[in-house]
Parts: sequence; C-alpha cells; structure tokens
Amino acid sequence: MKKKRVLVISTGGTISMVKDPETGALRPADWEEFKSFMPELNTDNLEVVLTRFEHFIDSSDVNPEFWGKLAGIIYQNYPDYDGFVVLHGTDTMSYSASALSFMLENLNKPVVFTGSQLPIGVRRNDARENFLTAIEIAAEQDEMGDAIVPEVTVFFEDRLWRGNRTTKVNAENFAAFKSYNYEALAKAGVHIRYYPERIHYSDQHAPLRLRTKTDSNVAILKLYPGISQKMVDAILHIPGLRAVVLETFGSGNAMSAPWFFETLKEAVDKGIIIVNKTQCLGGSVDFGHYAASLPMLRAGVLSGYDITTEALVTKLMYLLGEHGDDIATIKKLICTSICGEMTID
Ligand code: ASP
Repeated sequence: MKKKRVLVISTGGTISMVKDPETGALRPADWEEFKSFMPELNTDNLEVVLTRFEHFIDSSDVNPEFWGKLAGIIYQNYPDYDGFVVLHGTDTMSYSASALSFMLENLNKPVVFTGSQLPIGVRRNDARENFLTAIEIAAEQDEMGDAIVPEVTVFFEDRLWRGNRTTKVNAENFAAFKSYNYEALAKAGVHIRYYPERIHYSDQHAPLRLRTKTDSNVAILKLYPGISQKMVDAILHIPGLRAVVLETFGSGNAMSAPWFFETLKEAVDKGIIIVNKTQCLGGSVDFGHYAASLPMLRAGVLSGYDITTEALVTKLMYLLGEHGDDIATIKKLICTSICGEMTID
C-alpha cells in the first residue's frame, strides 16, 4: 500500500515551545528537539514531513501577509502530500483557519490546524495528543483514496471543527475552541468518529486556486448601551475604511436613535459595506424579527446570518482584496456561504 504523506507546517505558538533547563523560561524548541518528543511520527504507512516558518511567531503577530505565505506553502506542496497540519498559536487560530478557508479555493485535501495550551516540552501537556490526532485526520482517506475531511479544520482536545466556524473560548481549559452554530465534523475518543453529512466538499474536478489578495480596511464596531454618536461617527469616518462588522444585540438589533440610522445610511451611500453580526455566540441575525433591526435594513446594512466575527473579518478582507471596487459582487458574496462559513435560511 502506498504510504500516505502529511506535511506539517509549524508557525510557532505554545505547541512549539520547551522549557529551557537553565532559566526555566519557555522558548521555541529547535527542530531536532521538537521531533524528539514524537518518535512515533513515521510508521509503515505514513510519512510525516516537518517544515517550519523561519521565525516562530506568537499568533498575536499573525496578519494577512502571514496567511498568504501559509496558503502559498500549502499550494506549492499540494500535489506531493495527502494532507496538511498547521501548528499555530491558539490566540488567533480561528482567524487564520477562516482566512485559509477562503484563500484555498476548491480545496480537496485536509488542512488541519492545531496547537495546545501547554507546550510540547513540558511533562504534562495537551500538545502531543492534539498533534498526533491532527496528523491521523490529515491522512485519513476512504477506499477510493479521497480525503475524509477535505476542508480547513481546527482539531483541539477531542473535536474536529470546521475552521471558519470556530472561536477561541477558553484560555485555561484544554477544550479551548468551540463552534456554536455548527456541530463538530468528528469526535476523537478510542476511535475517531466522522460525520460525513456535516462535511463541506468542493468540486473534486476543479483545480486548487490560490487567492491571497486582501484588503484590511475593515473595522469592528461593537454596540453597547450608551454608545455615543461621536464614537460611531469616528469609526465610520476612518480614512480608507471599506467595510464594517457591526456587532449588534440579540438577533441583530440596535438602538432606534435617528442619528444612528442616518450615520449608517451616509456610510452605506458612500460605498462602505456594513454587515450585521450578532454579539451572541450562538444563533443568527434575523432582520425584521424585531422592529429594532428595521432601520439598519433600510439603511442598506447586510445580514451576516450566523457567521463568527473571525470568519466575517477575514471574509471581508478577502472579498475586498479579490474583487476590488466591484461592490455589487462583494455584497452578493457576503450573503453567500462560500465554504460553509454560515447558514442561510
Ligand atoms: N500566545 C500564544 C499564541 O497564540 C498562545 C498559544 O499558543 O496557545 O501564539
């Protein structure tokens, strides 16, 4: 039987760290040291190749250029591997997994992001389990040789989630990620149990396309009781602003003050794209359900349905970069689920 090949791309984060024996401080592991913690990586039917970013980063330093570089590594190595594992800091993993789900169009192989809350180089850790299970998932194929989960995912603790549905929810627990609006694609216990009916499949015959152009002129405006007109005004008048994630209350509601409607309307008329995203972790924007959402609808604000903030921010950056000034196409695609990032009913 042909050996399956998995490429592991390490970018940094806690998972790649060891405790320095002299100082006791955490520092990035050197490559040989890192591999020495996992002697069981290569087996008779699996070949794991490790590659790393030249400089390990804390994921707080992630940006669109980093996403483009990471997507480019996967694109270049795509024909030679059956699957990919990305080792990444947990803090912004959901943003990176979301960004890559848009940048790797027609993906037909697994790209599994994982990390850990405790470093690989300390005795008690969650790094080994997360890493080894992510590799198993990245290599998993059916009898036809097709990948079981051919999409960008996040594996953490015992769950495999669609990457663009995740949010980091806990800085302490090993179960650090959750997807409130979409169920797990797999659960890992003694066996790894997959749920094929939840998996997103791209057109198998379409070639992988790399789409790394982005525009980060996107702002998040989170509403709260008492937010002032000057605060809203200041954000909507940021020079160069092209899109806004408007974080609203409940099922997508906002205050009824006329100045709020007028400010939004003025921004939309200038060509700024505003998307309504509920502050609730679970559930969807339901425009028109309450009267408190109608002025936004009338001002030309779009619905983000049940998308996460992480997926919406990266989707906007990607759409603005790829489609430039074609506002009509961008608006159409905002209200379309491109790769399972939202549920439209
Ligand atoms: N600050 C780290 C990072 O995101 C935390 C982690 O890896 O869990 O890079």
